[in-house]
Amino acid sequence: MSEVVSNACGAFVDIIPAEQICQAAGKAVCVGRNFVAHAKELSNPVPKEPVLFTKTPNCFVPFGPQLQLPIGYGECHHELELVFIVGRQLSAQSFPVGQTGAALAAMRGLTLGIDLTLRDVQSALKGRALPWARAKCFDGAAPVTDGLVLPENHGVSDLNDFHMQLRINGEVRQLGHLRDLVFDLDCLVAEIVQFMTLEPGDLIFTGTLAGVGSLGEGDVLVSTLWSGAQTIEDVGAKVLIDAQTRVI
Ligand code: ZN
Repeated sequence: MSEVVSNACGAFVDIIPAEQICQAAGKAVCVGRNFVAHAKELSNPVPKEPVLFTKTPNCFVPFGPQLQLPIGYGECHHELELVFIVGRQLSAQSFPVGQTGAALAAMRGLTLGIDLTLRDVQSALKGRALPWARAKCFDGAAPVTDGLVLPENHGVSDLNDFHMQLRINGEVRQLGHLRDLVFDLDCLVAEIVQFMTLEPGDLIFTGTLAGVGSLGEGDVLVSTLWSGAQTIEDVGAKVLIDAQTRVI
């Protein structure tokens, strides 16, 4: 189960249970190729505008204690992502494009999510220029951990210290920090609301780090979000979210 080990300088005091996040989410808007290193590992060009796709409510499940994957569709890849939880309705009319920090101010909180992807299915669909729904929108395709309520005075610069990590069977597979995003949160929301209104509870998956790979039965996944230092082993790092699940 998700477990918040400690708070960041006492700033994050309220936890949003994963079950509540899943129930409140009407949709997730996800970003593809938002980290340069990940775009390159799948031989994709770094996009000039955000690559956007959606996940539907049937995808959202709490991260842990067990994770069930579709069987018989080839490789299912993990994509660890920082996920924002929308706090109020955002539309083309209401969102002040170009105002730094406007998107963050409209977020309720943040969490970690895994954008599970049937990679073989996706590759076949991409090859035929078809939509990705079969690869990205299956039941349970977006496990999320318990989340943190953003304090009201939390600024954009505070996010730069956030690091994310996914360990599988004790080995670090994905590790990175939020300041490496190609498109930041303000930019993403400005793009999304041009054609799609975001509602309270909706999720924004900000894109995976490099290091995606296949999951198999028995794998134990531990996702960690922390702030303040390069690795969680360094003195001074504050673990914000630590969650574990096992593939069955
Ligand atoms: Zn993704």
